Amino acid sequence: MPLVTCPECGHRVSDAADACPNCGYPIAARMAWERARAGQPNPPPAPQPPPAPLQYQAPGPQWPTQRKQKGGCGCVGTVVTVIIILWVIGTCTAAVEQL
Ligand SMILES: [Zn+2]
Repeated sequence: MPLVTCPECGHRVSDAADACPNCGYPIAARMAWERARAGQPNPPPAPQPPPAPLQYQAPGPQWPTQRKQKGGCGCVGTVVTVIIILWVIGTCTAAVEQL
């Protein structure tokens, strides 16, 4: 039966003793605690914190850039106008030539 050193007074005490005969330190309880601590497996890893929820990505300030351009109608109108003018000029020219 091995002897252990009393952590309280340093007296050599049998590990089978319930308490230190010198100071009354509870050796048995201490030994039981040390055995329990030594036999305990490593504590399980701390649970990982849940991942942060994905932040909603609001559309940037370029959202309303896609607008229907009305320039096409303007171009068509300009072309039609030019064609009409040329037709009128051609008609006038033809009329003048007939004179
Ligand atoms: Zn002691």
